Amino acid sequence: MEADPNPTVVLHACLGVGHLIPMVELAKLLRRGGLAVVIAVPTPPASTADFFSSSASAVDRMAAANPSISFHHLPPPEYPEPDPDAFLQMLDTMRLTVPPLLAFLRSLPSVAALVLDLFCVDALDAATATGIPAYFYYTSPAGDLAAFLHLPHYFSTTRGSFKDMGKAPLRFPGVPPIPASDMPHTVLDRADRTCATRLGHYGRIPEARGVLINTYEWLEARAVTALRQGACVPDRPTPPVYCIGPLIVKEEEAAKGERHACLSWLDAQPERSVVFLCFGSLGAVSEEQLKEIARGLESSGHRFIWVVRSPPQNPAKFYLPRPEPNMRKLLPEGFMERTRDRGMLVTSWAPQVEVLRHAATGAFVTHCGWNSVLEAASAGVPMLCWPQYAEQRLNKVLVVDGMQLGVVMDGYDEELVKAEEVERKVRLVMELEEGKKLRVRLTMAKEMAAEALADSGSSSLAFAEFLKDLNIGNTSKDQA
Ligand code: UDP
Repeated sequence: MEADPNPTVVLHACLGVGHLIPMVELAKLLRRGGLAVVIAVPTPPASTADFFSSSASAVDRMAAANPSISFHHLPPPEYPEPDPDAFLQMLDTMRLTVPPLLAFLRSLPSVAALVLDLFCVDALDAATATGIPAYFYYTSPAGDLAAFLHLPHYFSTTRGSFKDMGKAPLRFPGVPPIPASDMPHTVLDRADRTCATRLGHYGRIPEARGVLINTYEWLEARAVTALRQGACVPDRPTPPVYCIGPLIVKEEEAAKGERHACLSWLDAQPERSVVFLCFGSLGAVSEEQLKEIARGLESSGHRFIWVVRSPPQNPAKFYLPRPEPNMRKLLPEGFMERTRDRGMLVTSWAPQVEVLRHAATGAFVTHCGWNSVLEAASAGVPMLCWPQYAEQRLNKVLVVDGMQLGVVMDGYDEELVKAEEVERKVRLVMELEEGKKLRVRLTMAKEMAAEALADSGSSSLAFAEFLKDLNIGNTSKDQA
């Protein structure tokens, strides 16, 4: 079939800042490739407003910041009795949004492809119903994808649950051994409904025509090879994977608007002397933990920028918006005065991309959200890995044991990471031989990221391949 001259690519996003940021970057890339793009975002049903409260406003902020990208708000689905489990509630919302998505797709004159966030697996049904080719945009590491695609096979050929296996190493194709306790909580218990739902999703990913991954080949060569060789899904073909990253907000775009005070502060610090601490868009640590971090930073003697958020009142609802933190109450007495000359506290939000790219930044204490990892790798900043929720423990294994771009904050899986550990790891990365070795490796990661995105780099070529595949795709709306 002839390629449509004006095809639209519909990106179906899930709410959540860490999902929206890379989706918007993909939209920009597609626009540069000459395609019309619409980001179709769900509207949470009123009954679930709690869970989505912070990310719904993020969509508005992103739409305002990116006027060249078109956002379409799908109407809210009916959801009379939301699941009590917040994660299942989110997945249900995405599933119930399939009919409005289908109606939207049918309203468009020509759609070249439907690109789905990794939580929008049920939307494959809308693609099937319209004959529009579906792709996933995987905004986590290729290593996560390799492990998750393997899980349906793993579960059908083994017994027992990860939750009962302690740190026993799991051996999956394409990734280093993963301690069972580092698997995401959603798959820890085989008897759990969430686990069944996620396995169903992983089992459907191969239905897509291809998977775009926000990574670059050098960073995850082993996982990418395993995916390409079909080693992760033994019983059916794995769709082609396109490593098109790292797609992160460009520094010059991040720098639009007023310059954040922490950047002027960084200007005055020596090269590579500052430790940056930021735990993603939700960053939820307890008050006791904040105090331990403060003590560790103080005794390390190093400079720091620390993004401090109020602890969640209810840790199970860490995603709810929180008030500005009261630093004096939260941090140890006198800490702010004693560290005034070498520390900068930022409330709630820092310009992370710019901070990481600043010459004065020497290390990054991160929760291992994948955007954060890519931003650090592209900036050449070693990571101190402190995973907290979602797939971050698995990312930590990949970053430390696979990519060798960071060290682990021990105690991340216990009640508290102690001040002594914070001090020890900060010193290790900033002062010791191990830190120097990490920096050499990070310099390589940074160069390879730039090379992947250059004109003939692996990510540019993969994106060109994807565009070529789109032209082959059948763009008629109602083939079935
Ligand atoms: N971010 C930021 N400033 C902050 C906190 C987060 O700019 O104070 C950005 C960060 O640069 C990244 C995103 O928010 O692009 C967080 O995504 P990630 O995947 O790292 O973690 P998540 O928020 O999804 O857990």
